Amino acid sequence: MLFLLCVCCYLRTVMTPPAVPPAKFRLLESDIQLYQSDERPEVLQKILIHKAKDLTEYCTVNSQTSLRYCKTCKLLKPNRCYHCPVCNICILKLDHHCVFLNNCVGLSNYKFFLLFLLYAVLLCIFTSAVSLYCSILLWTHQLPNSQSKIPIIVLFILCTLFSIALFQLFRYHFNLAVRNISEREYHGDTEEYNPYNLGFSKNLRQVFGNEKKYWLLPIFSSLGDGFSFPMGDAAEDIEKNAAFAKHRTTVSQSKRILKRRTML
Ligand SMILES: [Zn+2]
Ligand SMILES: [Zn+2]
Repeated sequence: MLFLLCVCCYLRTVMTPPAVPPAKFRLLESDIQLYQSDERPEVLQKILIHKAKDLTEYCTVNSQTSLRYCKTCKLLKPNRCYHCPVCNICILKLDHHCVFLNNCVGLSNYKFFLLFLLYAVLLCIFTSAVSLYCSILLWTHQLPNSQSKIPIIVLFILCTLFSIALFQLFRYHFNLAVRNISEREYHGDTEEYNPYNLGFSKNLRQVFGNEKKYWLLPIFSSLGDGFSFPMGDAAEDIEKNAAFAKHRTTVSQSKRILKRRTML
């Protein structure tokens, strides 16, 4: 059963095509020519802002972040979308390009990737435990003497090494998943501000979905469309504070104008 689940998750990770941004993020031919004909960053940003008028919430984290454009795919990159140099396409919520799986790990297959690692670790631990048990029986002569004494010990050592290596990999990726940060966005700084962090439980639900019965099955149940993301409380607080500060400035400005008018 464990083996079947592991193989199934592996196949789904490898065979699921990565999710790409929809056509609405592509620039019109006229805009592309305009973009390519100019090199001034402020002009280029203006072209992108013009395109992003209806897509602003998908393309910037906040007003301070500049819009991103992919010259290869000729599209406006939504939040958390990155260009994979190996596949040569933009991938939604790209985590990393896995050379062992020969596929990009992103929105469409991140759940399968995590489950594959989990089942692979469990399978290695199980095989390691069984081979250890068998080798103890063989060496204590509780089983008839056979040629398989040495191969079983080799199997035990290999499975133990694999389970340690895979567990480290799983722990690393699970750690990123519970913080809702992709490997592409992670720069090794644990204190780094992450606007997508919704808290342990909600972050896990973003990957595994709301239905607990599907969590451990190789069925796609991740939340979100890949280009609009719920923000954490910290981000909302910052936005609220910014809006409040803006409002306060406007009120104080209008008060000052009123005061001046009454003085005149
Ligand atoms: Zn691209
Ligand atoms: Zn790739």
